[in-house]
Amino acid sequence: MTIGIIGGGPAGLAAAITAAQAGASVTLLEKMNRVGRKLLTTGNGRCNLSNEDTDLAHYHGAPAFIQKVFEQVAPEDVLNFWDGLGLRFTTENGRIYPMSLQASSALDAMRLEAERLGVRILCETPVRTIRRSKGGWMTGSGDSSVGPFDQLILTVGGKASPQLGADGDVIPLAKQLHHTVCPLRPALVKLKCASPYLKSLAGCRLDALAVLRSNGTEIDERFGEVLFTEEGLSGPPILDLSRQALEPGREAEITIVLFPEMNAGECFAMIEERCRRFPYMTLPEMLSGILNKRLIVPLIKEAGLNLQMTAGELNKRQIGALSGLLREWTFPVIGDGGWRDAQITVGGIATEEIDPQKMSSRKEKNCYFAGEAIDVDGDCGGYNLLWAVATGILAGRSASQEHIG
Ligand SMILES: Cc1cc2nc3c(=O)[nH]c(=O)nc-3n(C[C@H](O)[C@H](O)[C@H](O)COP(=O)(O)OP(=O)(O)OC[C@H]3O[C@@H](n4cnc5c(N)ncnc54)[C@H](O)[C@@H]3O)c2cc1C
Repeated sequence: MTIGIIGGGPAGLAAAITAAQAGASVTLLEKMNRVGRKLLTTGNGRCNLSNEDTDLAHYHGAPAFIQKVFEQVAPEDVLNFWDGLGLRFTTENGRIYPMSLQASSALDAMRLEAERLGVRILCETPVRTIRRSKGGWMTGSGDSSVGPFDQLILTVGGKASPQLGADGDVIPLAKQLHHTVCPLRPALVKLKCASPYLKSLAGCRLDALAVLRSNGTEIDERFGEVLFTEEGLSGPPILDLSRQALEPGREAEITIVLFPEMNAGECFAMIEERCRRFPYMTLPEMLSGILNKRLIVPLIKEAGLNLQMTAGELNKRQIGALSGLLREWTFPVIGDGGWRDAQITVGGIATEEIDPQKMSSRKEKNCYFAGEAIDVDGDCGGYNLLWAVATGILAGRSASQEHIG
């Protein structure tokens, strides 16, 4: 049994190892000069490969399809797979990492096992065409072709962070296999926002609650370290909200709550009390005891107040304007940070056209899919690597067991 796998990310490597362990002769075709470039950057170089909380609500896509896949290869099976490659784990706030806290450990473990099993890895081989010949599947890269293969597995990823390899080839390649590709859009990505203060806030980080609203209705909220950038907002809570913020047609805004532990009345009382105790202070001086310095001038301007005013000069309405912003400082979302900064792709090969028991194509015989190329994406927290490896294992297992037809 010969198997050709297009794409050497975690999904392709997991498929290659599983199929080779089952005795198949495997060739992995990778566009870049080495496999697993994206894997190396995951989790800030620490590789958050799974999560203790494996509730399927962390996935977006067709729920029945996702459930069927995890019935075949459960999250524990994925940990067992890594364990079988020699990787041990450590957990932080439920997030599972290699014990070394280095993504290179995960990639090395996969590369070593693939090498030990004799997987043929062809780097700098960008596949442009896929066709059937009498002997099986043939893949074409420029003037050269590789094949034939009895079985083909497509694991070319999506389009997020194209500098790391996956740059949307899923669209032409899946189409050659007569599959529908749902529109791709970036997620787990920073948000572009409209605000005159972003230039002066850029680089400022602080713990805050970020609330996503659309037309006044709250959609979701996340607490964590928010980062202001020249063009908008970033940081884990913003990345987590980005998928919903960027839903096509949605008018979204992010409200930053600087004092989430206080309600509006308590915020007002705090500022009023400071004005009473420190009437001689200018507004920046009065706020400097309670706020990150970088926020103070933008916040006073946003409240429509004058920087030279003293705390004692503020009337109740002005105190309300200032304290209101501590509770709710709103930034309209006007776009995303672009594919280069995105961690994940929403969209991909339509799940209706894939059999979730096997990851096999419902359109083409002897053809399988795995990983981010499929129209399923997960939350931040290890869910995307879990998906890539689980589907890779399933595709590799099915392809190596299938009768050739
Ligand atoms: C900065 C960053 C941090 C992340 N951190 C995490 C994290 O901590 N935890 C988590 O769960 N997820 C994380 N992700 C998401 C995760 O990395 C991906 O979901 C996962 O790598 C998808 O695996 P894949 O094998 O399907 O695709 P990819 O990893 O994208 O691999 C696809 C491979 O196919 C190759 N390829 C593409 N086109 C062709 C072609 N035509 N011919 C040959 N080869 C081709 C590419 O070069 C690439 O090597 C992160 C992503 C990024 C960008």
